[in-house]
Order: sequence, then C-alpha cells, then structure tokens
Amino acid sequence: MDVIVLGGGLMGTASAYFLARRGARVTLIERNRVGTGATVASFGNIRRTGRHQSQLPLAHRSLRLWGEAEKMLGRDVEFRATGHIRLIFDAGSLCDMQAYAQAARPWGLALEELGPREIRARFPGLGPDAIAASFSPHDGSGNPRLIAPAFAEAARKLGAEIIEEARVEKVARTGSGFLVASSKGVLAAECLLNTAGAWGARIAAAFGEEVPLEARGPQMGVTEPLPHRVLPVVGIWTRDKDYGAYLRQVERGNIVFGGAAERVTVDLEPGHACADPMRLPMQLRAVARLLPAIAKVAVIRTWSGCEGYVRDMLPVMGRSATTPGLFHAFGFSGHGFQLGPGVGDAMAQLITTGRSETPLDDFRIDRFCIGA
Ligand SMILES: Cc1cc2nc3c(=O)[nH]c(=O)nc-3n(C[C@H](O)[C@H](O)[C@H](O)COP(=O)(O)OP(=O)(O)OC[C@H]3O[C@@H](n4cnc5c(N)ncnc54)[C@H](O)[C@@H]3O)c2cc1C
Repeated sequence: MDVIVLGGGLMGTASAYFLARRGARVTLIERNRVGTGATVASFGNIRRTGRHQSQLPLAHRSLRLWGEAEKMLGRDVEFRATGHIRLIFDAGSLCDMQAYAQAARPWGLALEELGPREIRARFPGLGPDAIAASFSPHDGSGNPRLIAPAFAEAARKLGAEIIEEARVEKVARTGSGFLVASSKGVLAAECLLNTAGAWGARIAAAFGEEVPLEARGPQMGVTEPLPHRVLPVVGIWTRDKDYGAYLRQVERGNIVFGGAAERVTVDLEPGHACADPMRLPMQLRAVARLLPAIAKVAVIRTWSGCEGYVRDMLPVMGRSATTPGLFHAFGFSGHGFQLGPGVGDAMAQLITTGRSETPLDDFRIDRFCIGA
C-alpha cells in the first residue's frame, strides 16, 4: 500500500513511522522542516487529566507509546513521567475536580486527591494557598523540539521518504488514488493522510468537507535556569480563565509556563503566531499563584505557535466522509502533544487494516453536518 502523508508535525511524522512499521510505502511531504509547526511550540505537557472522556482511550494508548519512545526511536525525547499536579484554590473547583475524577475513573484514569498538608510535604514551594489538588502520577512531559524529528528519522530508517521544504501546489483525487504536485516533484499514491495541523481544514475543504476550525496561538514563556526543584508538571483547576496557568521545570533548570492569556489569532499565511508582550504580566500573576518563587526570576523568552482549534475542541480523525482513500488527523485544539504517538499508531492501523482498536467515532469529520 502507498500512502502520502501531508504535513510533517508530530501527527504526520508519527503516522509515517507507524505506517512504515506496518509495511506501507510512505512519503511524507512538509512545506517547512518537520516539527516546526504547532509541535515545536508546545509546552510539552503529557497530561490526561481534564481531557474529554472520549479521548481517554487514545490518551492511554499514547502514554504507553511515550513510555516506549526512547527504545522505539533510538533517541531520548526527554519523556519523563514526573506526575501531573493540578492545584485547587476554591470549593467550586474542588467539586469540579471530584466530579471529573469520578467520571474519568471508569475510563481508566485514576486521580489522587491531595489535601493541603500533603501538597506542602510532597511538593514544597507549590501553591501555598491551595486547599487541595489532583495528582496523576504516570503523566509528565516531553521535549517538543525532539519528538517530530525523532519520528521522522525512525520512519526514514524503515524506508519512508521524508520530503521537506516542498511547496504543495495541487492535491487531487485521480482514478486510482491521489496526486500531490509540489515544488519537489509529483507524487501519486493510493491513500492520502491529511495531517496539516491548523491548515488541515483547507485540505479537507478541497474535498468538500467543511470543518469549523480557527487558527490560534497560545502564549508560552521560559525563565532563566534555576536549581531543579519542581518535579511534576503543575496546573490548576479553576473556572476563572485569568488564573488558568501551568508550568514545568526542565531538567536544565528553566521554568516553562503558559496559559492564563487569551490566545492570539493567527493568519494561516504565513502562519507565524507572535506572542503578545502585553499579556505577560497577567500570565505571570497567574503562574505566581502556583509557584510564588517565580516573582524573583527573569523571563528570557516568550513565543507562540499556530494551532488549529475546532469548534467543539475535539480533533478530526478518521476516514473522509466524501472521498475513499482519504484520511484526516488534524485540529488538535491545543492538546495534541500528549496524543501524538497514539494518533500515529491509530491512524496507521486504520489505514492499513480498515479499523482502529481505539474508538475514533467522536472525532469523525462529518459530525458538523446538519443532522449528523
Ligand atoms: C504554544 C502551544 C502549546 C501547546 N502545548 C501543548 C501541551 O502542553 N500539551 C499538548 O498535549 N498539546 C499542546 N499543544 C498542542 C500540540 O502542540 C498540537 O496539538 C500538536 O503539536 C499538533 O500537531 P500537528 O502535527 O497536528 O500540527 P503541526 O505541528 O502544526 O504540523 C502540521 C504541519 O503541516 C504542515 N503543512 C500545513 N499545510 C501544508 C501543506 N499544504 N503542505 C505541506 N505541509 C503542510 C505545516 O508546515 C506543519 O509543519 C500546544 C500547542 C501550541 C501552539
């Protein structure tokens, strides 16, 4: 079977790898360098807490693969299962967390509930005013710079062709499959997988499939390095989006943070999302509630990235509803980093065997059609 993978972010490179592992002849085509879209901009959170329940089977599949990534890809992609703590500062948010934890348990996610004394003892320096927290011990983080190049390289070793810096001029259905004309030549294959991220809705529209997707950029920042003291990824349960911040400390000591700021709108051409410095003070105020020590530290860089947000905040994954042989995996709405390896594995299984052991029905592309 021949497959063209269009878009070389985490979803495209992971799909190319798992397709090649299943024996497909794969060509991945990327207009820039692999991993330089939303993937490289990611905060790197490998979290299941707070996910929509229908996403949890895919998130579990993905977490297993993150755990195997170093052996599988032959490179340390800095996956660390440090745990994920979410602090709680008010009674309403505590109720929200408890309701979520109860609903998520039958889906295989077990969250520990911590009281204030336990938080101080196990995680000194975090949230002095927190009244409770949830803790997910097997979650953690990975390095967003490393993962897509690692999948691309491993796919290449299995025989996949990875074409970078190629301007795609035409994507069309032919009698026997698909044709992709680009500045680096014309490709033909039986199947086409659309992993074009925030640009994925444009590809779908060319095949008569409309997806309500907006390109937006969450805002991130990183501090100077400090002694490595904060082990887990830290977030918050809150109904107040002005306080919806998160942070993690990388092993080199820098603290990476995000959230608590309106996402900037991004023009798909050229697709560069710019961080807005005016939003930084508000963001830092929210981060300081989680980690007061941040108030004394210098921020050395801020950035954003172009991500596709679907109206219902769920991705589009699965077969095209209009075109046999066309598959989609795009629109990961700000939370695709954790899902990436699982998405690649599930899409490769769907394309090569006709079914995915992980349910994907909630992510089907025609869910937005009237009457769907
Ligand atoms: C700032 C930020 C922070 C985030 N933090 C987290 C987090 O902590 N945890 C989490 O789970 N998720 C996070 N996310 C979301 C996560 O990073 C994304 O969901 C995920 O990386 C999407 O991967 P992708 O492969 O779909 O998209 P991308 O990485 O954007 O890849 C799509 C690729 O397609 C290419 N492309 C587009 N059109 C064409 C074309 N016509 N021809 C050829 N190539 C094309 C693009 O150049 C791009 O490289 C974050 C996102 C951002 C922006």
